[in-house]
Amino acid sequence: MSRFWSDHVSGLSPYVPGEQPRVADLLKLNTNEHPWGPSPKALAAIKEAADNRLRLYPDPQATALREVLAEHHGVTPDCIFVGNGSDEVLAHLFNALFRRQGRALRMPDITYSFYRSYCKLFGITPELIPLSDDLSIRPNDYLPRADGDLVAGIIFANPNAPTGRALPLQDIARIAKANPDIPVVVDEAYVDFGAESSVALLEQCANIVAVHTFSKSRALAGLRVGYVVANPPIVEGLERVKDSFNSYPLDSLALAGAIASVQDDDYFRQACNAVINARDTLTRNLTELGFQVLPSAANFVFATHPQHDAALLFRALRKHHILVRHFPLERIDQYLRISVGTPDDNERLCKALKTIITTSH
Ligand code: PMP
Repeated sequence: MSRFWSDHVSGLSPYVPGEQPRVADLLKLNTNEHPWGPSPKALAAIKEAADNRLRLYPDPQATALREVLAEHHGVTPDCIFVGNGSDEVLAHLFNALFRRQGRALRMPDITYSFYRSYCKLFGITPELIPLSDDLSIRPNDYLPRADGDLVAGIIFANPNAPTGRALPLQDIARIAKANPDIPVVVDEAYVDFGAESSVALLEQCANIVAVHTFSKSRALAGLRVGYVVANPPIVEGLERVKDSFNSYPLDSLALAGAIASVQDDDYFRQACNAVINARDTLTRNLTELGFQVLPSAANFVFATHPQHDAALLFRALRKHHILVRHFPLERIDQYLRISVGTPDDNERLCKALKTIITTSH
């Protein structure tokens, strides 16, 4: 601990991302990256920008990107806020919306763990609401309390992580409408793989904030682009915080690649469908091996085997050079979170699991 630190620094416990080892023949199914590459048009645009535009500062307003995203979502550009990956966008959201004196932030107890890290960073108390027995979010738990206890806001991921379970839009509308005076942030990192986006609710609900990323369905995790779709007063608050921090949200390569990706809608839809098909096959194959697999609307599955300990399976898969995710946390420590790979990846995974399961009896 350093005597040079500000008071809160020693209490921070940063989010630990999934491992990113550099090993040949490693099958990496631990961080929900897209198994196929990004749109070839995005790659060409990044190369063109590298050749011609790096001498210049990027557009601090990211105008062209906000315009194509607005069109994609059927909103106006003043509803879009962009940042360096959705993790950064989330940091701006916590900073701009959730630091309300004496109020806690309501969220599921099992969800994306970065939310708790940001609570620590920004001095916000999390109010953790347990998931139901089947590991889903219960909308009734997010309605205002009879005791009138005020919270700073609500945040959850839809589909939730690491469970993959999605809430239908009508449940999100019910939560947002019951809490009209606080922001309801819906992290839609995985929404393109089969859930309904809360962007459709923006006209009815001034308080909805949808968070998106280019890291999953657009296969551009390395580019670091995330964004918010929300009503203009919320975007304006985010802009104030961002401009006080760094007025250049995205570099020229990220802008060029992200714009071209959004413009290549055919590739985007095909690539999402390919992942959805691969997820359905993977779910079937895991079920045949005796796993219980939660219904997933994401590009990963959350699975448990009644006869095999998840930590042992995780370690055995590692010996086969296959990396999945295991969370040694209460209630989910018997589950593995497995990113959906290509059909070949999934076959290699299931073969390895079959070997592990049959030799451990
Ligand atoms: N939200 C959720 C639910 C996630 O799982 C992730 C990825 N780990 C993120 C946000 C962050 O994504 P990125 O910063 O790559 O946009």
